[in-house]
Amino acid sequence: MYDIAIIGGGIAGLTAAIYGQRAGKSTIVFEKMSFGGQIVSSPMVENYPGIAAISGSEFTERLLEQATSLGAETMQAEVQGVEKEVPFAGHGQGGDEEVSKALFRVRTAKEVFECRSVVLAGGMERRLLGVSGEERLKGAGVSYCATCDGMFFKGRDVAVVGGGNTALEDAEFLSEYCKRVYLVHRRETFRGEEGTVRRLAEKENVEFVLDTVAEEILGGQAVEGIRLCNKKEDKCFVLNVSGVFVAVGQIPKNEPFASLVKLDEAGFVVAGEDGRTSVPGIFAAGDCRTKHVRQLTTAAADGTAAALAAVAWVNGGK
Ligand code: NAP
Repeated sequence: MYDIAIIGGGIAGLTAAIYGQRAGKSTIVFEKMSFGGQIVSSPMVENYPGIAAISGSEFTERLLEQATSLGAETMQAEVQGVEKEVPFAGHGQGGDEEVSKALFRVRTAKEVFECRSVVLAGGMERRLLGVSGEERLKGAGVSYCATCDGMFFKGRDVAVVGGGNTALEDAEFLSEYCKRVYLVHRRETFRGEEGTVRRLAEKENVEFVLDTVAEEILGGQAVEGIRLCNKKEDKCFVLNVSGVFVAVGQIPKNEPFASLVKLDEAGFVVAGEDGRTSVPGIFAAGDCRTKHVRQLTTAAADGTAAALAAVAWVNGGK
């Protein structure tokens, strides 16, 4: 039996493990792919306070080592579901009699783990554009995070693909560093906020490329261009850019928990700053929860808050 079962071994999950262990609780972290989550494939992280530059893989290694040396257990396995133990009522309502019992069961394909609290930290995936060259040039000019990688394209021409708020904000952010930003959207009108669209339209170094779909990302060792096709004019052309920022939506990895906790319409776990979800004893941290800013720093902050809330819950608090 574990005090805190953490589902997801990214920055939020591993930070939760550190805080849980340091509070004297037993923790186990489940990860189905690679520990570190999205950051593991970042060639260079330059926006974590106190660390000027570090590769995503080294950052992950250090974090994992920190968590495990404190006693956190790790398990390479996909969690298929979490079930509440019955009777569940009673805990957190004044009496401590339920505290010693397992409240939740975490199920993988091979085993079931009992625990007193759960931190959901499964993260999210950026939707892929799905065009030729994208996979091959990932990390070599193809990026899914303008805030993380924008600085590497200072003074250069880049394309942002997408029409939602992420694409608009990415284009705005990049326009501060890049020589020219092409905002490529498959329709004539943007899905994102009108105010941001207006601000972008006034920028001299931002160009809207509308009714246009990406066909291929070009380049040898690094991105050299993007081949686009205008659907209305039935005309294809190449933009010479050094970076392609893909912002065509996000997919939270919360399906196994859809019937357990409340999700918003986009599939994110509804939870506030303290990580509390619709189910007492289950907390959410990092990119998988409803929030505005999804960064390394906010994932770490979320892991902290969710772990401390879980500790309080295990101690018999509300
Ligand atoms: P989103 O709102 O789902 O927008 C995705 C965009 O990508 C849409 O414009 C969509 O085009 C386009 N798209 C999807 N698949 C594509 C494909 N295969 N090829 C080309 N274009 C494609 O995603 P998001 O911008 O990441 O935002 C996710 C959520 O977070 C939204 O609710 C958003 O409002 C929110 N968010 C809020 C803020 C903020 O409040 N400041 C900032 C960022 C994100 P169509 O429009 O044609 O479907």
